[in-house]
Amino acid sequence: MSNESNKQLINALVCLDLEGTLISNAVSQIPRPHLFEFLEALSRISDIALFTSVSEERTEAIKILLVDERFAPKWFKDLPSLHPKGTIKSMGLVPNRERYQAIFLVDDQIAVVEEGESDWHIHVKEYRPPYRQDDRELIRVLEQIQQRANRPKSIKAKFRPSRSRLESIGKKGSEAMEQLDPTDIENWRE
Ligand SMILES: [Mg+2]
Repeated sequence: MSNESNKQLINALVCLDLEGTLISNAVSQIPRPHLFEFLEALSRISDIALFTSVSEERTEAIKILLVDERFAPKWFKDLPSLHPKGTIKSMGLVPNRERYQAIFLVDDQIAVVEEGESDWHIHVKEYRPPYRQDDRELIRVLEQIQQRANRPKSIKAKFRPSRSRLESIGKKGSEAMEQLDPTDIENWRE
């Protein structure tokens, strides 16, 4: 589901929880506001998989229902889905994870995230009664993913002058400023 029009982006996989994240729950199956546009926009910047404790069979039925009722794009039916054995969603369960520069898990429950793996978790507020139609969580999360997929922390950190370098600039004053790479200053000011 990656798209060739966004070459500047890192190669990312976004794992989406189902209940409380994209829909109310597996029984009432109320789609969260902005679901369609969220999925469409996300598919342009990353690969997508579902990561849910809902059974495989029920997940398939929900995918079909959401597409048939036009709450999700047609390709949503073909999304791969991952199902943890218990409740904990470990990154180790993601197949082919070495293909990606970044993997994210969008989930409303912090408790399902494996200990020590909080970095890949993007928290979304649980979609719950009264199921407000002005809920904008998916838009907010999309922006957060766009930012992280555009400017991964590791790359940003690499271009930032180190603390010791800044200290040496402080000590040596103008002499050190002359040695400083202009791109360093640019990134530092950001
Ligand atoms: Mg959930």
